[in-house]
Amino acid sequence: MGKQSKVAESSWENLLRIFTVPEAPGSTLNRLDRDISTNLSGFLGEHIVAEENDLAVIEQDFSDARIPEAPAFVSEQTQFLLDKVVSQSVHTASPSFVGHMTSALPYFMIPLSKIMIALNQNLVKTETSKAFTPLERQVLGMLHRLIYGQPDDFYDSWLHHSERRLGAFCSGGTVANITALWAARNRAFGPDGEFPGISRGGVFSAMRHYECEGAAVLVSERGHYSLSKAADVLGIGRDQMVAVETDGYNRIRPDALVATLKRLKQQRIRPFALVGIAGTTETGNIDPLDGLADIAAEHGIHFHVDAAWGGPTLFSERYRPRLAGIERADSVTIDAHKQLYVPMGAGMVLFREPSALGSIEHHAQYIIRQGSRDLGSTTLEGSRPGMAMLVQSALKIIGRQGYAMLIDNGIQLARRFADRITALDDFELVTEPELNILTYRWAPPEVQALLGKADDALRQRINDHLNRMTQSIQKIQRERGKAFVSRTRLTPSRHGGQAITVFRVVLANPLTTDQVLRELIEEQRQIAAEQRESADFAELKALLASHYRQG
Ligand SMILES: *Cc1c(COP(=O)(O)O)cnc(C)c1O
Repeated sequence: MGKQSKVAESSWENLLRIFTVPEAPGSTLNRLDRDISTNLSGFLGEHIVAEENDLAVIEQDFSDARIPEAPAFVSEQTQFLLDKVVSQSVHTASPSFVGHMTSALPYFMIPLSKIMIALNQNLVKTETSKAFTPLERQVLGMLHRLIYGQPDDFYDSWLHHSERRLGAFCSGGTVANITALWAARNRAFGPDGEFPGISRGGVFSAMRHYECEGAAVLVSERGHYSLSKAADVLGIGRDQMVAVETDGYNRIRPDALVATLKRLKQQRIRPFALVGIAGTTETGNIDPLDGLADIAAEHGIHFHVDAAWGGPTLFSERYRPRLAGIERADSVTIDAHKQLYVPMGAGMVLFREPSALGSIEHHAQYIIRQGSRDLGSTTLEGSRPGMAMLVQSALKIIGRQGYAMLIDNGIQLARRFADRITALDDFELVTEPELNILTYRWAPPEVQALLGKADDALRQRINDHLNRMTQSIQKIQRERGKAFVSRTRLTPSRHGGQAITVFRVVLANPLTTDQVLRELIEEQRQIAAEQRESADFAELKALLASHYRQG
């Protein structure tokens, strides 16, 4: 590094400049902006370093807790970002990054998000958002219609109604789930005679008034952890987010659900919401939503569907029937930053009835006044960005047909990948894909054969070894930086309920091809071969040898 010839100075004039004057054409910021604009994948490919750096090493670049006294030039900071942040980021847009729900974005999102940021509208109230408020309401209406398909006059009446909302726009699935259960809680324990309702009286007096020992929400054991957070925040307690057993396809078991409802009743714990999942986070399975709607109706409890991941499947004529019954839900969560391909920070909860959000309404004098169209009165969050603009843009630019193609492509790619894994004798498909998520593991044929005839104890020992192998293959592959799958632990009935570690693949990037997946598997096979010297592999071989000698 040469000598710094200029030093940034603090002065009022310089301060005003950063609010008004763009960086010069040849500046670092401008160069970067141009590179991103002309060739995004080139930019990312060039700047993101594939090899993984230890987090402890990266932390050293961020170890100073002092706020700088004197200013820095924008160019200096831009260079810092390029060197230390961009280069050590994760290439989520890479076609071989198939481990998580965070994936590639359509290119137009980048310039359009600049418009959003430049306008800096705040959706909490119309005074700071103007056209953005009707725009957000339109987006909520579009998603409402996708799910519930009400007739035109329904939307004519409610879309822009000052006292009603069709849903709430928020930062993501977590807040959407909290909002749904918040509304459900407030409706179930509403005002009654002298009792002002749980929202004013609190949980303790609500339980006393309604003569119960607690309040519960039911969801399958594959429920997303955001639901436990909701139970905690809403004061019902995490233990009252009751996990119901699943079947061999990771779907809630209606018989177990009914038994659980009965048990809660005996314990005088009142269930106020049932959550069905449309696309479980780990395995992408769908609960029997129609059956759940029946059970919820019979017990008079709120039926919420967590379709944070799977909701956009509704765009596909071909696969939409897999979500049958979703239209009977009282509320539905959809994440726009997952399969609507919008940048992070966009989720929604839609309510079938336009009056449902009334139970969580809050007003203040200087803002979100009664009878105003301000969206802030029914959102958990206060100030909120104009992300709905990006959702609306994606819905218009991609269109229903475009989304249908994206959904169909992901599901079919997952199907072909699953068939391929099944055909390989050294890999084992653990969960069949229902949508575009599947899980599998590496297991050589002789190990699979032994597992087939092993008793529980031996099976446990073999699985322990395989689990550690899966873990190290996943970690090594991630560190090599060419491809990435995630891993999770499941307890499939086929494995006698033993916990097994699996690779998890999420196929949402339209640039991911069969070839990319073939190479990914090939790399895993190669890593497994290299691990032959490892202690785990040696023990596994010894185990095999002893059993085949006996057998
Ligand atoms: C991702 C996800 C969530 C949480 O959404 P965030 O946007 O991460 O807050 C909730 N439920 C399911 C099923 C999900 O897949």
